[in-house]
Amino acid sequence: MPAAGGDHAGMTAAAGGTQAPGGTQAPCGVRAPDQAQEGGGLIVAVGSVDQAHLKYLELILGEVLDLPFRILDRPISADTAFDPVRRQWNAGKLLQVVDDLPASRGASRILGITEVDLFIPILTFVFGLAFLDARTALTSTHRLHPEFYGLPAAPDLVLRRLEKEALHEIGHTYGLKHCDDRGCVMHYSNTAEEVDLKDARYCPACEVRVRLG
Ligand SMILES: [Zn+2]
Ligand SMILES: [Zn+2]
Repeated sequence: MPAAGGDHAGMTAAAGGTQAPGGTQAPCGVRAPDQAQEGGGLIVAVGSVDQAHLKYLELILGEVLDLPFRILDRPISADTAFDPVRRQWNAGKLLQVVDDLPASRGASRILGITEVDLFIPILTFVFGLAFLDARTALTSTHRLHPEFYGLPAAPDLVLRRLEKEALHEIGHTYGLKHCDDRGCVMHYSNTAEEVDLKDARYCPACEVRVRLG
């Protein structure tokens, strides 16, 4: 049985490398081939996604990262990443699909948003995955909804969690690893409740790295 997951990636190397167990200090994300780093950010809906979530992220990411984001005008399919045995979607495959999008050419940051349940082989689930020190990240809202845990719906709470997880995964694209500062958005979260405990901000040390691009 795979270990429980969280908001970090295990480490599937893009070129088919080995896996390392997850952990609070584990490097996060996977290496991507060198890509042109120019232009603004792109938000991509993967499958059916709440438009309010996309609009909110467009606003927040633009402000926090000081980078103009736009939303791709149509969703892309998550189908090729579906694993019929686990009945979940392979986050590494989906991340690569987003990164390979012709429409993303020239974007300096790409964030895929999906409502499907993501996994990597060594973990039961992940909230998201990112290419480390590259440009592409992926975040799922699936386990950010209180309803997933049998609790009443709370749309505002989902937005706050999504904001944190999007900033977390994008932080990995700036080369950030997990941060010991419990208030920092780069602090590792294994559960939705742990996501709630951290702030939607980078600590000063992480912020510097993001500002440097
Ligand atoms: Zn992480
Ligand atoms: Zn930090």
